[in-house]
Amino acid sequence: MDKKKENISIGFVPTMGALHQGHISLISKSKTDNLLTVCSIFVNPTQFNNPDDFKKYPITIESDIEILEAAGCDILFLPQREEVYPPGFIKTHYELGGLENILEGSYRQGHFQGVCLVVERLLNIIPCDILYLGQKDYQQCMIIEKMTQLRNINCSIKISPTIREKDGLAMSSRNSRLSNSERTAATIIYQALIYMKSNLKNKSLDDLKNNAYQMLEESGFEVDYIDITDQHLGSVENLNSSNTLVGLIAATINSIRLIDNMILTNIDE
Ligand code: AMP
Repeated sequence: MDKKKENISIGFVPTMGALHQGHISLISKSKTDNLLTVCSIFVNPTQFNNPDDFKKYPITIESDIEILEAAGCDILFLPQREEVYPPGFIKTHYELGGLENILEGSYRQGHFQGVCLVVERLLNIIPCDILYLGQKDYQQCMIIEKMTQLRNINCSIKISPTIREKDGLAMSSRNSRLSNSERTAATIIYQALIYMKSNLKNKSLDDLKNNAYQMLEESGFEVDYIDITDQHLGSVENLNSSNTLVGLIAATINSIRLIDNMILTNIDE
């Protein structure tokens, strides 16, 4: 198909399936902006640093297809592993700079190389005009932006806000693995972000992070990191040093690792 000749714009939403309203919000944005919307479902082995996490990743293809049909998604790309990584496929290394080794990168060795590999590969297969990503994976958005620049990939990127459950928990495919009590406890991540946002003016940076840390630990979470950075994920020394501040949390309960973030200086969230 010659997209230019046909004047068709294509929006692309890459996912790992177990679809929820967060994914659907990206599909809806794409449908508003483009003539064709493509969603891919592929649980990408190269981005899992923990083989157990990969094995336990929820797979719900039948309900995913129903959800995509109901959302009016035009095309589902559901490749086999060999289609994405054919025999003889040579892995590229991406020079992602410091961004690769902080936050998620420091806890998930090789994760972002795997993310770049699959997204570049998918973008080779699906010639899209706009790539839709969720702010839920804040660092991933920045990494993918960098990868598209490094590789001169000609598609724009649109980042959509995080969709949350009523109690604030960020929707995530991994939430389906939580037991009832873990699910109840998991709202503490949102509450800790709200705590940091609400107390930005009356607490020090250290107090904010330490108190949020304590909130998570008291709810049974093991904390990987709680950080407050500038919008480029650069470290901040104090709370006056940047106009835009982002709070980021990664924490695990019973081997289920959840991440979330919030723009702390934006009164709309
Ligand atoms: P995943 O299936 O987890 O790889 O996510 C696929 C895309 O959906 C990524 O761009 C995510 O950032 C985005 N996404 C996941 N959860 C949410 C959410 N709760 N709200 C908005 N976007 C999300």
